Amino acid sequence: MKVADNLANIEEKIRQACEKSGRSREEITIIAVTKYVSTIRAIEAVDAGIKNLGENREDGLLEKYTELHGRADFHFIGSLQTRKVKNIIDKVEYIHSLDRISLAEEIQKRAKTPVKCFVQVNVSGEDSKHGIDLSEAVEFVRSLESFDKVVVDGLMTMAPFTQDERLLRDCFRKLKQLQAEVQNQALGNAPCKQLSMGMSNDFPIAIEEGATMIRIGTALVGEDS
Ligand SMILES: *Cc1c(COP(=O)(O)O)cnc(C)c1O
Repeated sequence: MKVADNLANIEEKIRQACEKSGRSREEITIIAVTKYVSTIRAIEAVDAGIKNLGENREDGLLEKYTELHGRADFHFIGSLQTRKVKNIIDKVEYIHSLDRISLAEEIQKRAKTPVKCFVQVNVSGEDSKHGIDLSEAVEFVRSLESFDKVVVDGLMTMAPFTQDERLLRDCFRKLKQLQAEVQNQALGNAPCKQLSMGMSNDFPIAIEEGATMIRIGTALVGEDS
């Protein structure tokens, strides 16, 4: 499938989800997750109108960055090893996987200007999921206040892999509630305006529950090209 055709399908689902929840299309940014696919496929996505690309590895990011910087913004979406920070920090617009103080310290040390970060939250409590436990997340954000190079622009989660709509909705709602709690703290470096949630499997529900960034791989660019 062409990316443009996949994108048209996704746009239709976004439109329906916005209509259902009384939201406007402009509130939602699509991140094309290109971690499974070639640079050529990433270029096709950008040619189709995509302006944000997500990668979870340094090498994939650098490869696509070389071809596409200036035409797309880059998002680091996967678990980020501390020692890789210096190699990617000046190439990414957002880091979606801030999940520990040592990572914040490294960002603070390496960044020349403040970096927009998402605190990754393990809402579902599954052991396999990365992220800060829901119950510890507010305290974690508070502990970032002294890092002036770390901006908590929002929260990110990965929902459990299920078709159970009730479980998915519950997960996204909890992240939205947490966002309100963080905003209530009124921390200078944590505006927390964004919610990065929703993937190929569940993005319409995430949009209905308040997502502002959806991260779509398989349904948009496929898995192997
Ligand atoms: C791979 C990945 C995605 C995209 O997953 P799809 O199900 O292919 O849309 C989104 N977010 C993160 C953090 C990922 O690692």
